[in-house]
Amino acid sequence: MVCFCFLVDQKRKIRRSKPVAGMCSRCRSGASVVDMITATRFCHVPFYWKSWKAIMCTFCGAILKSYR
Ligand SMILES: [Zn+2]
Repeated sequence: MVCFCFLVDQKRKIRRSKPVAGMCSRCRSGASVVDMITATRFCHVPFYWKSWKAIMCTFCGAILKSYR
């Protein structure tokens, strides 16, 4: 199972982002609402995509809130 976990990784890609009222709790810069795609890869071959929305800080990358 350890070996299996090693071969699977995830890549996040931001499709769209829009500034939103709010502040990052970590670095105090502005938060944005983003449309994201997470690609799950097995041996560097993507086999599953999920798109989701979240409020995140584009400056430090902290996820402040996520929706499904
Ligand atoms: Zn931040």
